[in-house]
Amino acid sequence: MVQVLSFVLPAVVVCFLLQRTCRRRMDIAQYNYFRDLALVSVWLLSALWAGSDVSRFIVGMAVFASMAGTFQHSRPHWSWKLAYLGIGLLFAAAGPRITYFALPDGQYFYFSSWMSIAVTALWVAVFPVLLQELDNIPGMAGHLLAISFSLLFLATVFSGQDLADAFFMSLCGLAFLGVFWSRHGHMYRRIGESLTAMWGVLVAGTSILGVSKGITFSTLLLLPLGLFAIPIMEASLHFATLAFSSRSPGAAVLYRKLISRGLDHPSAVRFITSLCALGGAAIAISQLGNSVFMTIWLSVTVIFTGLTITPFIRNMKENGDMQLKPVIWSTSVDNVSMDYALSKTRAAVSGGEGVALVSTVNALAVMEAEKNGAYASALRNSFLTLADGAGLVWALKFLGTPVQERVAGIDFMTRLARMASAEGWPVYLLGAKPHVVEGAVRALKQRFPEIVIAGWRDGYFSPDDSSVARDIRESGARVLFVAMGVPRQEIWVTKNAAELGNLVAVGVGGAFDVISGMLKRAPEIWQKLGLEWLYRLIQEPWRWKKDLDLLRFAGKIVLSRAGLYRSRKKRDPR
Ligand code: UDP
Repeated sequence: MVQVLSFVLPAVVVCFLLQRTCRRRMDIAQYNYFRDLALVSVWLLSALWAGSDVSRFIVGMAVFASMAGTFQHSRPHWSWKLAYLGIGLLFAAAGPRITYFALPDGQYFYFSSWMSIAVTALWVAVFPVLLQELDNIPGMAGHLLAISFSLLFLATVFSGQDLADAFFMSLCGLAFLGVFWSRHGHMYRRIGESLTAMWGVLVAGTSILGVSKGITFSTLLLLPLGLFAIPIMEASLHFATLAFSSRSPGAAVLYRKLISRGLDHPSAVRFITSLCALGGAAIAISQLGNSVFMTIWLSVTVIFTGLTITPFIRNMKENGDMQLKPVIWSTSVDNVSMDYALSKTRAAVSGGEGVALVSTVNALAVMEAEKNGAYASALRNSFLTLADGAGLVWALKFLGTPVQERVAGIDFMTRLARMASAEGWPVYLLGAKPHVVEGAVRALKQRFPEIVIAGWRDGYFSPDDSSVARDIRESGARVLFVAMGVPRQEIWVTKNAAELGNLVAVGVGGAFDVISGMLKRAPEIWQKLGLEWLYRLIQEPWRWKKDLDLLRFAGKIVLSRAGLYRSRKKRDPR
């Protein structure tokens, strides 16, 4: 154990520091490649240095599976499930095997050697496939792997038996997952074919080691079943067909249901993870007796599950009475959370065709739409219309059609920029004065070193200049931030949509001025009090004329509530 710790702990620290340094210096593709290689290497080195023959064998097979996963990435249409079955057979033929099955009454059912090979091969083959299914949902495979290794580790430590190999494998699994996944494999990252295949064989192999040393087979069969209960219901049904087909049926019915009920992506992943953790913990405890530590684990899981589920239920209740698209005169707003808006935008960037315009509207924008037909029409055709501005959020509440939360354009831009840098989506910045947009590009690069900036350009050009849209299309940008002010930016995007190619365009108003540091954003307390406009007015006093519209807006809201005002404009029924 000392030898194991003396290698694993320093390895974790070195990998952590290496990642930090490389992340700053490399571009995103290089860095991702380096990170995956570093993970495979540290597993190999640990097995060679501190592992037994059995753990070396498992790690070797896992690396072999990761190679299959790499080829799978370039030839996704081949029947890779058969290759994993082959790896499972090889594993069963030369490595540790599942030899018996513990029945609930304490009896053991021993397999014949052929049966044992078949069961082990299937067991090892099923995990890479299952993890790849789970990996269709960003963040899910990583979360469930973390739960699996934590439970395997705890079960090994508290089993009261000498399970040196299982201890080594589960400790390394936890430690390396912590370094290589938790810092990067956040809610929006997939693990990829190659590494899911590797982790699949590792987790399968580790569970077999526990069994071989005495932890009952039923625990380790039921444990992963418990952990993966929800997704496995779907994945297992399809496994037979999966083995012979390359078409993915698409994992996670439950996940899709949660999302369609208005839950955002991170909460849905957390919800499923907590349910799996709860199931897994219950089974581990029932197998291991009244261990204090396992009880603590169960309590933590219950609290975590409670914390995850309560807001979910509250949200569902509130959403029950909420309109999906509250209407305020000629403008309708999407009643979505920041996370939900980001999930939808992610889907639009990855699979969308044409231009998806995300508009951010505040009280002044709603007033503008009353006067300006072209702007109102651009808003109607927006892919998402987000409620930016505390005044608008209050007004909607006052009118009895509240939105879940305020989604400020600048916050949305920052979150989307982070997502784009993680995904490698090229970003284009259009708008503001030349030194401002340059400052914004610099600031984004500093904040997200791996962001790919496809190009930028100031927002002072003739509306008839078609070269701007062409340049953007040719830059290969997938995300376009347009900061030319309302309504210019939305109208420009709508008019030039045909030229822009396939991308998500976000109208962000004066965000470049703030991101570049030319203007200061109002402190949070001003924002909460709805005084962001005043803070801006102090910095840009010439805005006073524009801000007079805020008074008109407030007046019209009161009249609307009393039923004395209605938009004269007709809205297209959508
Ligand atoms: N802007 C621009 N082109 C123009 C006019 C304005 O790029 O023709 C830029 C301006 O420099 C500022 C941003 O648009 O950075 C936002 O302008 P404004 O404050 O008027 O927009 P709002 O935040 O009110 O939508």
